[in-house]
Amino acid sequence: MKAIRRFTVRPALPERLNALEQLAGNLRWAWHGPTQELFAEIAPDAWREFQHDPISLFGQITQERIDELAADEDFVRRANALGEDLNRYLTEPRWYQQLEGDKPDSIAYFSPEYGIAAALPQYSGGLGILAGDHLKSASDLGVPLVAVGLFYRSGYFSQALSPDGWQQETYPVLDPDGLPLRVLRQPDGSPVIITLCLPDDQVLSARIWQARVGRVTLLLLDSDIPENSEELCHVTDRLYGGAEEHRLRQELLLGIGGVRAISAWAERAGVQSPLVFHTNEGHAGFLGVERIGALIRGGLTFTEALQVVRAGTVFTTHTPVPAGIDRFDSGLIRRYFETELLPGVETGDVLALGREPGDQSGGVFNMALMGLRLGQRANGVSQLHGEVSRRMFSELWPGFDADDVPIRSVTNGVHPASWTAPQLTELAIRNLGTSDTATADWASPAVSDAELWGARNEMKRELVDDARKRLERAWTAQNPGGVAPEWVRNVLDPRVLTIGFARRVPTYKRLTLMLHDTERLRRILLHPDRPVQIVVAGKSHPADLEGKRLIQKFAEFAREPDVRERIVFLPNYDISMAQKLYPGTDVWLNNPLRPLEACGTSGMKAALNGVLNLSILDGWWNEFFDGENGWAIPSAVTADADERDRLEAESMYDLIEHQIAPRFYDRDGDGIPADWMRSIRHTLSTLSPQLSADRMVSEYVNTLYRPAFDSTSELRHDGFRAARRLADWKRRVTDAWSGVAIAHVESGGLDLAPQVGDELHLRASVRLGSLTPDDVSVQVVYGRSAANGDDLRDVQTADLEPEGDFAEASDSGEWLFAGTVSLGRPGAFGYTVRVVPKNALLDNAAELGLIAVA
Ligand SMILES: *Cc1c(COP(=O)(O)O)cnc(C)c1O
Repeated sequence: MKAIRRFTVRPALPERLNALEQLAGNLRWAWHGPTQELFAEIAPDAWREFQHDPISLFGQITQERIDELAADEDFVRRANALGEDLNRYLTEPRWYQQLEGDKPDSIAYFSPEYGIAAALPQYSGGLGILAGDHLKSASDLGVPLVAVGLFYRSGYFSQALSPDGWQQETYPVLDPDGLPLRVLRQPDGSPVIITLCLPDDQVLSARIWQARVGRVTLLLLDSDIPENSEELCHVTDRLYGGAEEHRLRQELLLGIGGVRAISAWAERAGVQSPLVFHTNEGHAGFLGVERIGALIRGGLTFTEALQVVRAGTVFTTHTPVPAGIDRFDSGLIRRYFETELLPGVETGDVLALGREPGDQSGGVFNMALMGLRLGQRANGVSQLHGEVSRRMFSELWPGFDADDVPIRSVTNGVHPASWTAPQLTELAIRNLGTSDTATADWASPAVSDAELWGARNEMKRELVDDARKRLERAWTAQNPGGVAPEWVRNVLDPRVLTIGFARRVPTYKRLTLMLHDTERLRRILLHPDRPVQIVVAGKSHPADLEGKRLIQKFAEFAREPDVRERIVFLPNYDISMAQKLYPGTDVWLNNPLRPLEACGTSGMKAALNGVLNLSILDGWWNEFFDGENGWAIPSAVTADADERDRLEAESMYDLIEHQIAPRFYDRDGDGIPADWMRSIRHTLSTLSPQLSADRMVSEYVNTLYRPAFDSTSELRHDGFRAARRLADWKRRVTDAWSGVAIAHVESGGLDLAPQVGDELHLRASVRLGSLTPDDVSVQVVYGRSAANGDDLRDVQTADLEPEGDFAEASDSGEWLFAGTVSLGRPGAFGYTVRVVPKNALLDNAAELGLIAVA
């Protein structure tokens, strides 16, 4: 018989083993090697089998084993020492605590998914893993983050392949009692429940699970509770599943419910509610509307409240793919907001936040645009993605050049302690005196080539073992009762040059580019002296049939008898596979369609392990490829998609055949590839510090969180005085802007043949209508000018200053502004003059989308 309900009973550990409960209750173990070693000691096989999850592990050990451990003085002593180490980690001042000046006491972080440990599968891909790494580095740096997400009862899905290579999805049901989670409770012990009013007088309720991620608290909202109807229990069933209304309900719960959950948590924890909110991707965007609602109920108008919320909100966009942007039918939004959901907030004001420029009927509600309108500070996730985002969203700032669009970039990073193989960490501890592999001096002769090569080969052997086990298990699942054939147990060879490729399978990532010319690929794989093997993994979104066809095509090739030991597809890509896969490869391949990869982080995780990247110059690689840390696949410039794929695939084959394989197999007398080792050392010593999520989080703190805190604090000061003034000023400037124009510009000071060092004097007469010179900046914008009349390049701006009596315009109603530009470099020079609004509370001249140009 099958159980109708199941739950996990946690064993009662004796008091002498209290430290174990403490260590298991905080996910810091997920990136703390010594704690993992202690858990492994309890029951090594179970530790491996239960995806390295201490709570399931405790559920498996016998009372005898528990008694044995409790009687083991040495074990108890070590457990206690690790418990003390954890306490110290949680309470000692860290990087953030040393920062001088004002800084937020608490920062809210929102993401629809979190990839923290294999034991908590609440992610589908890069966005989730990034969020997990962000929390871990924030914890290490002492940044006071509180994070919010949803608790998906089935997480994402588990992937298997049918015998003909078609992706099969299963949705294992997670039991939160068996996970490192605790319910947030009232003082009387009852769970805290947050509620949202829905159409037709329905109420959506959710309880709040708390996970401790080092110093950071993660709150996960769960709708699967008796308070909800059967239908509403399913709101948090799966990540990225279901139709439009389902998705909307999830996003309302995440955004609006998330803010309510934070308030409830802050009250219980005795922490100040955060003023700074960081929202990732559009999905959590409703958090801003909830906060506006609270301020309206406190007496502000919508526009005033909007200023306060915007100032404290950081919006990060994670996709350059227009199809990746989250949009709703605005009728559906209307139906959900014309309820008691947000008392005091007009539905029309909400709809305006998501309207697309040019959408006359207002039929579409765009979550990314709402994110940009609700966040004064916005960023993309690599330099190139910043550029692409500025172009992609430039319609929101009409009249401005794409370069002026106020979206900056903070390049993603990865959490070294989570993603560096233990072999490398051990080597760093032993020979370099540090466990911090990201900043260790890998160029130092204290580590010999032989030792580093030895560690790399050890990592590779682990991958080969892991891959064989996984394939054997997959074969047995497909052929119940059978014994996997010999070749399945012999796939891959630890001595062979190994290329890895693993990621989600949207079309733009081009899983099958390597199959472009299968005969050539076959020759590369089966080369008699310089063989190559390829390990591939990745899940396709269940609704993406095209992605599933790509997997099938790949699986078909990987089944062919002559190559099947050299090219494999590992089903069910997840964190635990990734942690073995990246370190175990020699080369990490990435061949997206440029520029559709926002950043890409798997290559970063590979690089931290001394793996060399072979990639299209997209995302992070566009920024970090330096000629010695790997190889760049040139992007073909052609409108013909097939031709482009052909050219790029051929470049890739050429690089593998003529550069990568020869260098890998060029060995000295000890069997070590000296050139290759130089690239490994160069990658580890120069790239690793840049790729660390510590670098990323500190950039967020310094360039986004702290400025956002200053802005929103100023607007809140003294009963929101500055917020009211800013709202008035924006309205006044917007209404008067049609009267702003540049009447004419005079220039002087230059000879017929200007030289570097000469000065250009400029004087502009400007009409300001009802505005005054205090309200505007008149700026000269100058740079390299192209003969064909294209936009200026290498642009700089300088303010022109009001001239003459400030108080009065001339009779003609024109104001004079003047200034000087010195010609700093030779070549074609061009300039123009523009007027933009000026206010100390703006973060950027383009913010209002108002401009007048000469
Ligand atoms: C890092 C990681 C990803 C994201 O990789 P990209 O290169 O950004 O596509 C996806 N899934 C898992 C399990 C990861 O560890």
